[in-house]
Amino acid sequence: MSKPVVAIVGRPNVGKSTIFNRITGERLAIVEDTPGVTRDRLYSRAEWLNREFHLIDTGGIEIGDEPLLTQIREQAQMAIDEADVIFFLTNGRDGVTGADEEVASILRRSKKPVVLGVNKIDSYEMQEKVYEFYSLGFGSVFGVSGEHGLGLGDLLDEVVSLLPDEREPEYEEDTIRMSVIGRPNVGKSSLVNAVLGEERVIVSDIAGTTRDAVDTVFEKEGQEYVLIDTAGMRKRGKVYEATEKYSVLRALRALERSDVVLVVINGEEGIREQDKRIAGYAHDAGRAILIVVNKWDAVEKDDKTMSQFTEKVREEFQFLSYAPVLFLSAKTKQRLQHLLPAVKEAADNHNLRVPTNVLNDVIMDAVIMNPTPTENNKRLRINYATQVAVAPPTIVLFVNEPELMHFSYRRYLENKLREAFHFEGTPIKIIARKKN
Ligand code: GDP
Ligand code: GDP
Repeated sequence: MSKPVVAIVGRPNVGKSTIFNRITGERLAIVEDTPGVTRDRLYSRAEWLNREFHLIDTGGIEIGDEPLLTQIREQAQMAIDEADVIFFLTNGRDGVTGADEEVASILRRSKKPVVLGVNKIDSYEMQEKVYEFYSLGFGSVFGVSGEHGLGLGDLLDEVVSLLPDEREPEYEEDTIRMSVIGRPNVGKSSLVNAVLGEERVIVSDIAGTTRDAVDTVFEKEGQEYVLIDTAGMRKRGKVYEATEKYSVLRALRALERSDVVLVVINGEEGIREQDKRIAGYAHDAGRAILIVVNKWDAVEKDDKTMSQFTEKVREEFQFLSYAPVLFLSAKTKQRLQHLLPAVKEAADNHNLRVPTNVLNDVIMDAVIMNPTPTENNKRLRINYATQVAVAPPTIVLFVNEPELMHFSYRRYLENKLREAFHFEGTPIKIIARKKN
């Protein structure tokens, strides 16, 4: 289910990133403990009054060397294109500036819902500085202080009240939803075309398809798939379309709706930092993942090339140890026939349910082979294990002291679970919970 998008727009230094961090801070702290994943503070999930949404800080998106005003205009335009609600931020200490008026006029013309925040209202006495901002022509104006967290609750109440209902197409439960992500030019569009070109497409461009992706449903050997394509949606000619972060944004929304994500790498060029960042997003979202090394036709190979490349992938993507690596060519369709079976297997594993008694046998055997850690003369005791969710498989261990469950022991148990069950392609979550 794709969540609505809220974009923060405003001049530099009004406090956008301060407020972004305040709204999203807690959540980021939770996901940040994934080793090897560099976080990007531009785009994050947020929640208020039980409504989840995505928050974008458009100020974090640099648009070439354009003059400042052009940049702000582009950021406003991007917010209009991508967001359901726009959070326009100004600085109460500066008063209304020319750039504020410029942004306001672009936003007013868009007819998108806008909530105006006047920041740096750090005390009650400063509240009077808010009034002149009514001249920008928006109904709701909120004095806030990002630094002190004042007034943000009322503003977010208003933002949430303006969010649309979630509006994604629904598919049958056993339809496998897949998307393709990767940096520009790795061959995403070519791969999408190659897959769809081979298969019988049932419905193309189905109703409810959102503006940031085209969903195509097809069938292969009795299994229904949806390919959520964002790659073909790029390059509409706007300046910001060319920026890396912008395409990441789209990919993120697609992967949220996917069961399986194909992370495409250019085999000809090798692995880049940006590949890791993109893969990190898919991992954080808890999706099943395949690493697709494309352009394999263009690589000079001998009998060791594939295993050497696989080794390099394992080294660079340590957090994706569960993801199978596929080598293929979208152009020549070499080895393409392995792709969908691997997608299907990863999707099955993503939804795998392990019977409780078998799960407990595996955990208890693991504990016998490698006793639980101790700290201050206290030993971790695992009483009982149960799988509480699928997609991804999530296992709760009821223990005496959750703090005694260290990273390394958790990883040991994860490896044992992976040896025992078919979890290839899917992350698994292990949660230690105190037994009451
Ligand atoms: P951005 O460029 O719009 O993302 O702005 P930043 O979040 O980087 O903030 C710019 C400066 O304003 C920083 O020095 C912040 O510490 C400061 N700032 C942000 N929010 C407040 C606030 O509510 N009150 C005050 N006094 N300063 C703030
Ligand atoms: P995207 O930006 O990731 O969607 O990449 P494209 O699908 O647009 O491909 C970028 C370039 O790589 C194009 O010139 C493609 O023809 C080329 N390309 C894509 N797949 C392959 C492949 O498997 N082998 C070779 N040799 N070239 C490819």
